[in-house]
Amino acid sequence: MDFDLTEEQEALKKTVRRFMDTEIIPIVAEHEEQQEFPSREIIKKLIPFGYIGGLLPEEAGGMGLDYISYFILIEELGRAWSSIRTVITTNNMILTNIYKHGTEEQKGRFLRPMLNGDKLAFFGLTEPNVGSDAASLESRATLDGDDYILNGTKTLITHGSKAEMGLVFATIDRSKGAKGICAFLVERDTCHYTARDIEKMGMRASVISELHFEDCRVPRKNLLGQPGEGLKIALAGLNIGRCTVAFAVIGVAQACIDASVKYAQERKQFGKVIGGFQLVQEMIAEIVMENEAARLLGLRAAHLLQKGLPCAKEAAMAKLFATEAALKIASNAIQIHGGYGYTREFPVERYYRDIRHLTMAEGTSQIQKLIIGREVLGISAFN
Ligand SMILES: Cc1cc2nc3c(=O)[nH]c(=O)nc-3n(C[C@H](O)[C@H](O)[C@H](O)COP(=O)(O)OP(=O)(O)OC[C@H]3O[C@@H](n4cnc5c(N)ncnc54)[C@H](O)[C@@H]3O)c2cc1C
Repeated sequence: MDFDLTEEQEALKKTVRRFMDTEIIPIVAEHEEQQEFPSREIIKKLIPFGYIGGLLPEEAGGMGLDYISYFILIEELGRAWSSIRTVITTNNMILTNIYKHGTEEQKGRFLRPMLNGDKLAFFGLTEPNVGSDAASLESRATLDGDDYILNGTKTLITHGSKAEMGLVFATIDRSKGAKGICAFLVERDTCHYTARDIEKMGMRASVISELHFEDCRVPRKNLLGQPGEGLKIALAGLNIGRCTVAFAVIGVAQACIDASVKYAQERKQFGKVIGGFQLVQEMIAEIVMENEAARLLGLRAAHLLQKGLPCAKEAAMAKLFATEAALKIASNAIQIHGGYGYTREFPVERYYRDIRHLTMAEGTSQIQKLIIGREVLGISAFN
């Protein structure tokens, strides 16, 4: 087993980190304080690195990146700014789904404007009464001539109010359970849904929205995949999604470590730098070790993804371990900064707020444990 990044991957990491340090990190604090959603100009600056659709093959307009390179991008973006990271990774979920499941007509219509950054897309699965148990969703779609008519509410939807389009999951027949669910590509201009943003704890420059669909017409040609394949489509990308979350928090945890090391080397108490105290060194040792363990679990899952091998257990372990570890790391980073860590004068309180939700997104920690248990035992606790 080779633990080293290739020369290209090392070079990519260096180049992207330099870009983040000079172009992105300096604008983060102001955007977060003002709750200002990243402009398209900023989002488009990320495109040359492969941030939008970089995993897609070149003939489809992507960059044909391998998974480890893509996750290097995600880690560096997570280290820099969680709010823009969530925009990028959510948007990529829809791009990948269109590439994998779309008709040629859909690919022709949607891929290019998304790859250019002209169109952002949201992922509309969660509903007020439906979270972990996605198969029981309540939004309805009824066929009427050449259109489906959508009714229902989606909630906690990343950049729901800011995106020009989205992938919305609704059932055509609730009695069929998971097999009644369809995936629809909705466009804001023609499918007149309403949006309300929901105040949240962190990532304050990004938004989550509640979207309300009332007799919204969606052309039949916007059905992604076959009728009844919606949940399969939603779940198909989960291993990539879980690795993506893992690397996003590994990036934030790295930012916590960098800030903590610097602070511990500079802050003096009792006549010496606090980094010289054994108990502070213990905290530093733990946060470094936990993030390194998270990175190795993530790389293991990425390696399996790259080989096209099954990796439900490995992706769940990577996501679970990285997100839970990152919370401890962010909390310890605040501890190392003492009282200042709790203030907005230092970034560590923001890191904690920004990642608190990631033990929920892409399947909660409890759900990851049930997946790992199912893979190991061969018994599902879901039924
Ligand atoms: C910032 C943010 C962004 C989001 N973005 C999106 C988005 O873009 N698109 C989207 O569709 N959704 C999005 N979500 C929603 C997210 O996917 C859900 O929060 C998540 O799936 C969990 O669902 P829930 O919140 O309804 O929790 P629930 O499913 O109600 O769970 C509540 C608690 O019960 C536990 N629980 C549930 N079932 C079981 C079980 N079988 N065994 C043990 N414990 C269980 C859970 O682990 C959790 O602790 C976002 C959420 C947040 C916070």
